[in-house]
Amino acid sequence: MHNGDCHITECKVRGDGSEIDYYSDFCVADYIVGIGGGRITDLTKAIADRKKIPCVILPSAISTDAPATSRSVLYHPDGSSYAIKYEKSPELIIVDSEIIFRSPLRFFVSGIGDAITTKFESEANARNMRKNLVKGNYFPTYTGAAVANLCYAALLEAGRDAVSGIRSGCHNKSVDRVIEAVVLMSGLGSENCGCGIAHAVGEGVALVPTDKSSLHGEQVAFGLICQFIAEGREAAFIYGLLEYYADIGLPKTLKELGIDVNEKNLEIIAGMAVSRACWKEALDVPVTDVGQVMEIIKRADAIGNESGGIPEI
Ligand SMILES: [Zn+2]
Repeated sequence: MHNGDCHITECKVRGDGSEIDYYSDFCVADYIVGIGGGRITDLTKAIADRKKIPCVILPSAISTDAPATSRSVLYHPDGSSYAIKYEKSPELIIVDSEIIFRSPLRFFVSGIGDAITTKFESEANARNMRKNLVKGNYFPTYTGAAVANLCYAALLEAGRDAVSGIRSGCHNKSVDRVIEAVVLMSGLGSENCGCGIAHAVGEGVALVPTDKSSLHGEQVAFGLICQFIAEGREAAFIYGLLEYYADIGLPKTLKELGIDVNEKNLEIIAGMAVSRACWKEALDVPVTDVGQVMEIIKRADAIGNESGGIPEI
C-alpha cells in the first residue's frame, strides 16, 4: 500500500533468495502483506527487512512454524538451507482457520511435525545454554521454554482430534488449537529457545535425492526420533510418540520419507547433521563421528519400522 494504492502481485517463489533483489527493487510501499505458504512467508519477511517496512503474514497453510519467526530459511541449489535473521518478527500475523482447515491435510500434519520438535530442542538447548535464534544471540528464555512445553501439550491433546476432524470434513475446536500451537507457540518457542538435533537431521534428510519429496515438518519429525536415540531416551517413550505419528500420518521411517536405507544415503544425512552447530552443541555428550551418527539414524529407522505402518491420509 502506497499513497492509497494497493498492489497485489502474484509470484512463484523458488526459495533460493533470488527473488529478494527483484521484488525489493520495484517495491515502493508503506508495508507488505504476504499471502501464501512458507516460501512466500520467507520472501515477504526478507523484502520487509530490506525495505525497512512493516510486514503482515497471512498463511495459506501451516506446514511450518515460520509465520511468527524473525528469520527466513532459503535454499541452495543442492537442497541445503541457510537462514537470514532479522531485527524483528512480522508486525502482524492473520490466520484464517477456515483457510487452514481447507488446505491440504499433509501440510497441516507437517506443521505438527515441525512444532512437536520445539519442546525437546528447547530442553536440550537450555541444558547446554545454547544461544537462541533471536538476532544478537541470547540465551534461551524461561518464557520460551514454558511456551514450548505448552505447545507439546496442546499438540498431544488436540492433534489426533484435529486430524480426524479434517479427514471427516469437520472443522472442530481441536483444529484451531493445533493452529495456535503451530503458528504461535512453536514460533515463539523455537525463536526463543533455538533449534537442535531434530532440525540438524532434518537438514540432512532434505539433501538425499529421492523420487518422493518430503516436507520440512516430516523431515524434522524423523529427526526428533534420532534426537531421542542420541539422548538415550527410554524406548517406551519413543514408541508412545511413534504411535501418535502413526495416528496423525507423520512418517516414522526413512522409507516413509521416500529414502532408501543404504550407506550412501545414511552418510549424506549424518554428514550434514554433524556439520551443524545445532547437532554439536545440543548434545550433553557430543557425538561428532559420522559413523556413530549413521548408527543413531539406523536405530531410529529401525524403531520406526518396529512400530507399524503409516496410515493413509
Ligand atoms: Zn522447523
